[in-house]
Amino acid sequence: MAAQRELYDAIVIGAGIQGCFTAYHLAKHSKKILLLEQFFLPHSRGSSHGQSRIIRRAYPEDFYTQMMAECYSMWAQLEHEAGTQLYRQTGLLLLGMKENPELKTIQATLSRQGVEHQCLSSEELKQRFPNIRLARGEVGLLEVSGGVLYADKALRALQDAIRKLGGIVHDGEKVVEIKPGLPVAVKTTSRSYQAKSLIITAGPWTNRLLRPLGAELPLQTLRINVCYWQEKVAGSYSVSQAFPCFMGLGLSLAPHHIYGLPSREYPGLMKVCYHHGNNADPEERDCPAAFSDIQDVHILSGFVRDHLPDLQPEPAVMEHCMYTNTPDGHFVLDRHPKYDNIVIGAGFSGHGFKLSPVVGKILYELSMKLTPSYDLTPFRISRFPSLGKAHL
Ligand SMILES: Cc1cc2nc3c(=O)[nH]c(=O)nc-3n(C[C@H](O)[C@H](O)[C@H](O)COP(=O)(O)OP(=O)(O)OC[C@H]3O[C@@H](n4cnc5c(N)ncnc54)[C@H](O)[C@@H]3O)c2cc1C
Repeated sequence: MAAQRELYDAIVIGAGIQGCFTAYHLAKHSKKILLLEQFFLPHSRGSSHGQSRIIRRAYPEDFYTQMMAECYSMWAQLEHEAGTQLYRQTGLLLLGMKENPELKTIQATLSRQGVEHQCLSSEELKQRFPNIRLARGEVGLLEVSGGVLYADKALRALQDAIRKLGGIVHDGEKVVEIKPGLPVAVKTTSRSYQAKSLIITAGPWTNRLLRPLGAELPLQTLRINVCYWQEKVAGSYSVSQAFPCFMGLGLSLAPHHIYGLPSREYPGLMKVCYHHGNNADPEERDCPAAFSDIQDVHILSGFVRDHLPDLQPEPAVMEHCMYTNTPDGHFVLDRHPKYDNIVIGAGFSGHGFKLSPVVGKILYELSMKLTPSYDLTPFRISRFPSLGKAHL
């Protein structure tokens, strides 16, 4: 007779930031949980590795700005529990032409939501940040609470917290089969498990797990070049010089945002990246073919030359990371359309790190059949018209 498999309240697939925060909320609510990760931790193959991410309330959409209010307190709580700094306030400077519609919308959202910010004319910008060079007509919007999250420390803090709370983390175990039902059965490269509910937070691998379950999502997986640029005078764009995080919106020759973080993680190097990349399968991210198109790096070089004159205009270091984009750039936070004890958190479209405390809470609530704390309309699978019943 087959041995009785242990029954978990929930199994979470994927120990990126979204899976870790989901498992943390489940474990905090005394659920018996198992977090499965295909690679040995820590690893750099998904979307959550590296030392830094931007945190901000500045969004065009009210719903993200509202979610960020709770995220800031949950980041502070995790910092407190872990006894380590995870957030450094630097301010977030949005740069764009005065008439840029996105800039105007963000400013309106910040005002409506009561978030502290300052509108800076080009003269004020020059005085405050003399090592940013502006194009004619560019202005700034400074969101005071913007800053840096220490990403790798946050992941470690969460994984430690999950274990302390009694949760189980198995790394080096890839999920190879999911059998829907109550309980749902999960087979990995080494063992089989069962759970009352399953949460899939598999980043760029999401559709590999969903395809056999008949719910392929319109996700685009992109390889992102994470570029670091050398300061001509070491420290001139550093946190200690009160240089802020920044985002350039609607800049000429750059159809997507350009963003940067003050130098800190590699002394003398500043991270400046393009919010887009090239299509890539996560299994082949570093194959030579993936390097043929470096249009993004050319765009960044032009931006650095024009706007950040005290940086060398060629990247000194390039690392890689994956985005998993949805067509509208909003997340997927929903139940599987056919199996309601399978919950999906995916499509974080290059902006999910800062929001992971609330994402994890929502995925926990969905998996436990609780009423979600937020309106999930923007995040539903049913917003993709191509996902008709034929896919199920
Ligand atoms: C260069 C870069 C810069 C970014 N900057 C910002 C920023 O400034 N601010 C911000 O808010 N966000 C930012 N983001 C976005 C943010 O980092 C991502 O939205 C977030 O990390 C997504 O996390 P995830 O858990 O969904 O995915 P991942 O981190 O990819 O985690 C998924 C995990 O699932 C595992 N997995 C997959 N399949 C299986 C399987 N079959 N079995 C077991 N495990 C499996 C994977 O190995 C992986 O560990 C950035 C992203 C990148 C790449």
